[in-house]
Amino acid sequence: MRIGKTEIQAGEKRTGFLPVEGNGASPPFTVIRGGEGKTALVTAGVHNAEYPGIQAAIELAEELVPEQVKGTVIIVPLVNVSGFERRTMSTVYEDGKNLNRVFPGAVLGTAADRTAAAVVSELFSRADCYIDLHAGDGYEDLHPYAYYVGPVDKKVRETSFQMARRVNAEYLVESSCTTGGAYNYASAAGIPSILIERGGRGLWSREEVEEDKNDVRRVLSYFGILEGEAEPVREQTVFREVVYENAPESGCWYPAFRPGERVRKGDTLGEIRDYFGRTVHVCTAKGDGVLLYQTVSLTLLKGGPMAAYGLWPEEG
Ligand SMILES: [Zn+2]
Repeated sequence: MRIGKTEIQAGEKRTGFLPVEGNGASPPFTVIRGGEGKTALVTAGVHNAEYPGIQAAIELAEELVPEQVKGTVIIVPLVNVSGFERRTMSTVYEDGKNLNRVFPGAVLGTAADRTAAAVVSELFSRADCYIDLHAGDGYEDLHPYAYYVGPVDKKVRETSFQMARRVNAEYLVESSCTTGGAYNYASAAGIPSILIERGGRGLWSREEVEEDKNDVRRVLSYFGILEGEAEPVREQTVFREVVYENAPESGCWYPAFRPGERVRKGDTLGEIRDYFGRTVHVCTAKGDGVLLYQTVSLTLLKGGPMAAYGLWPEEG
C-alpha cells in the first residue's frame, strides 16, 4: 500500500503526510497494517476546534500495533491543519471554507477543495468503512450522538447503522443528506460511514477522549479488524428529523436549555438581543424532542446556528 510518498508493507506501522496539490498544509496520517482484512479510515479535525476526536485519533494511532490488527487502519488525526495552527473556529485558514461542506472537493480548487480531493482520492479509494470524529464547534455545546446516512444503498445504510449502534450515545441521527459532508459523500459512494459528535466549547476531557476511542475500537471490532467487544452497549433512539435553527440576524444569544434536555413544541429555546439588551428574536421549538447542540457564545452570527434538536419519531 502506498499513500503519497509513504509505502506501507503488511505488518508495518508508518506515519506520513497526505499530499495536497498546491497547498502547504498536509494532513498527518498513521497507517497500521496487519494481515488480511478490511481497511478502516478514521479522521478527526475536519473541524479543527473539535478537540476530543483529534486527541482520541492521536492516541489511537499511538496505541494500535500491526499485531492487533486484522486488516488496515488509516488514521488522520487532523485534516484541517491550517485552521488548527491559526486557531480558526473550524474553517480552513486560507479560504475561510467549512471543509465538511466541500466534499468531494476539487484538485484545482482552493485549499479546502484540494484537501477534500486528497482525502477522497488517497483515502476513500481504499476504505471499506469510515469513521469521522467531530464535536460541537468552539462556540457550541453538544450532547453526544452519531450520524449515519439514510438514502443510500440499502446494504451501506444497514452497515452504517450497525456502526452507529456501537457508539456509546443515547441518540442517533439518520441523515437525509448525501452530499457535502465527508461521511455523507463517502456513504453515497458506497463506503459505510458514521460521524460521531462528542464534546464542544473548544474543550476536551480525558473522559470524552476515552469514549471516542472506545467507540472507534468497538466499530473496528464489529468489522473483525480488532478483537474485542463488538456488541452495542446501550439502547438508542434514532432521530430521522432534526430541526436546525439558524439565526435571522446577528446579536447576543441567550439560550434557555442545555444539550440533552427535552424540549416541547412552543418552548422558548433562546432569545437574540441587540446591544442595548432589547429582544429582537425569540426562537421557539417547532415540535417535541431533544436538544442536540446549541451555540453558547454570546456572539450570534446571522445565518449561523442557534440550536438543533431531534424530533421524536412519530408514534405508530
Ligand atoms: Zn464538526
